[in-house]
Amino acid sequence: MQELIERAATDLAAASYAVALTGAGMSTESGIPDFRGPQGVWTKDPDAERRAYLSYERFVADPGAWWKERLSAPIGALGSLEKTEPNPGHRALVELEKLGALRCVITQNIDNLHKKAGSRKVLEYHGNAFLLRCMNCNARFDFGEFDLQKLNEEGKLPPRCPDCGSVVKSDTVSFGEPIPQDVARQSLGEVVKCDFMLICGTSAVVYPFAALPRTARARRAEKEREALSGLVAVERLPAVTIVEINAEPTPLTLEGVSDYLIQGNTGDVLPQLVERVKAKMGAAKG
Ligand SMILES: [Zn+2]
Repeated sequence: MQELIERAATDLAAASYAVALTGAGMSTESGIPDFRGPQGVWTKDPDAERRAYLSYERFVADPGAWWKERLSAPIGALGSLEKTEPNPGHRALVELEKLGALRCVITQNIDNLHKKAGSRKVLEYHGNAFLLRCMNCNARFDFGEFDLQKLNEEGKLPPRCPDCGSVVKSDTVSFGEPIPQDVARQSLGEVVKCDFMLICGTSAVVYPFAALPRTARARRAEKEREALSGLVAVERLPAVTIVEINAEPTPLTLEGVSDYLIQGNTGDVLPQLVERVKAKMGAAKG
């Protein structure tokens, strides 16, 4: 494993535009249960999964009723997220950003822990459990911006966007709900320009998030074909290096989407990676 960490540090320090993709594996180390793991929320309660699949349909059909029900059940499947704290993996990504070695974190996690740790550029692909979102203009709001209990008592649910008047929902993306356009567009933009991708704690099986590493990989294959065809001048396009940090091999490992896997917990591996990157960047400067 040390050799692979060294290799990743070399690749990362040499990259000109690195991004990280993160998933549930990073959050479980902060004590947040995942959904599909052995102790997952849905593994233990399959009915909860069925309800979750119906949630967005029900929101669209009757947003007022959806909100009413939601307000009657204050604690969601993930428990009390307010009390959770970032772990060494989150803090390592903050350090990489401060070093200038990482440009952006694209996360599937809704727990706000990357921002809480101090990462500045975070794209929350599946939303943020602490925010609300206008379904029309994508404006985000803190929960505190609406008096939800009062709206409930006065029969005025759902909350409405002060900017455009449309229905407001929790920012967390439900099953069947499209990824908010702004986040989807920005994420794709990052993926298309990166020359290094660090995939942390996710097996990337949930689409469309799962398309992001595959898009980066396909882009390289396409450029290689173009270069071989002789139709284009040999353009010095960055080859994308894709590295996974995960407890287990994933479909990305098995399909050859990633170049290599560092097998381990993100909370252990990422801080070691930071130390090696620091050493290399220090050496390069000196
Ligand atoms: Zn709006």
